[in-house]
Amino acid sequence: MQRSTELFDRAKKVIPGGVNSPVRSFRSVGGSPFFTEKAEGAKLYTADGQELIDFVCTWGPAIHGHNCRPVHDAVAQALDKGTSFGTPNPYEVELAEMVCDWVPSVEMVRMVNSGTEATMSAVRLARGFTGRTKLIKFAGCYHGHVDSLLVKAGSGALTLGNPDSAGIPADLARHTIVLPYNDTQALDAAFAEHGEDLAAVIVESYPANCGLILPDEGYLPHLRALCDRYQSVLILDEVMTGFRLAKGGVQEIEGVTPDLCAMGKVIGGGLPVGAFGGKREIMEQLAPLGPVYQAGTLSGNPLAMAAGIAQLQLLAERDPYAELDQMGARLASVLRTAAEEKGIPLQVPQRGSMFSLFFAEDRVRNYEDATSSRTDYFNQVFRYALDHGVYLPPSAFETCFLCTAHTPDLIDRASDVLTAAIKAL
Ligand SMILES: *Cc1c(COP(=O)(O)O)cnc(C)c1O
Repeated sequence: MQRSTELFDRAKKVIPGGVNSPVRSFRSVGGSPFFTEKAEGAKLYTADGQELIDFVCTWGPAIHGHNCRPVHDAVAQALDKGTSFGTPNPYEVELAEMVCDWVPSVEMVRMVNSGTEATMSAVRLARGFTGRTKLIKFAGCYHGHVDSLLVKAGSGALTLGNPDSAGIPADLARHTIVLPYNDTQALDAAFAEHGEDLAAVIVESYPANCGLILPDEGYLPHLRALCDRYQSVLILDEVMTGFRLAKGGVQEIEGVTPDLCAMGKVIGGGLPVGAFGGKREIMEQLAPLGPVYQAGTLSGNPLAMAAGIAQLQLLAERDPYAELDQMGARLASVLRTAAEEKGIPLQVPQRGSMFSLFFAEDRVRNYEDATSSRTDYFNQVFRYALDHGVYLPPSAFETCFLCTAHTPDLIDRASDVLTAAIKAL
């Protein structure tokens, strides 16, 4: 860790906390982060010469593994033609056509530079379209660091939100209603009280930012029906799940079509891309056609678009979803068996290439359940795994990701390490 420690010491002097995104700081698992020198396939190579089997996959984007050749080559080709034009370019059209083709709800799409920008813009658009102000979001769902969405539940019976970060005006936060996930009664009550003022409900397609939480049977259709009844915009945040769990995202899997959806991560092939799209009637409210302003100097950037096109084309060619799901199911079952043999309760929710570890007795259905799981166990497993060449996300409340570069051999090796890590608890 010597070189990483040196770099981190330098970083802390010039970058707050030494990181450009807080979860990278290892605060929740303890210790200090390693620096990555390069990444290839399913492996990270650290600045200290360690080789790690990576289950973070750059927090989702690297579905074909790191430094995937076709994506790499597409970016290199685009690079030869210039890095940014400030005019429309052909790549934008091609990627937009693919997204409209693949994602059920998307009739028109706009490219942005991050998932945060995508959800922020979708919320503004929903408010502009409906002429209403209030939003519903769910405890434990993360939608990027958008002011209106960095909001937590108010105390007691109050459903009106409180700021979940310093710097967010309470006056703004109170327009956001925060509900427990998977609770249809709370949803019905909030709609009954605020339905006429509700611009939008935003929900992670599968909540995956406090570990992976799956919707109860019928929950998403119920939400869709309520939004229809009250003419509120349903925004599905597929930043993490889009193109990762199916070509058309969770909306394709669950058969629930939102009015708008936010995308990011996989869509950019590891370059900074986000996107939001949906019904034509709503999207046409955006500038320059309509009154809702939204813009971006680097939006639709040719390098980023080239990476996205190559990434999606590869998904179309390989159709890796069934294979990734089998891999995920296998790993989840190894983890469950290890915990059972050790006599420690462990929940491993898994869908396709996403899974997480909750040290808890019962299925985790919401934020409450997630946060009452044993994070000390997770942290010990994390540390043991890292010491033995396996990198899990550095927080109990993140999701693990698989990619097509996780070969059976790597999965076997990781299974052995994770089994030993659980046995060592
Ligand atoms: C990562 C994430 C975001 C934010 O995307 P950034 O690119 O980090 O701004 C938004 N929503 C969900 C569901 C995410 O997982």
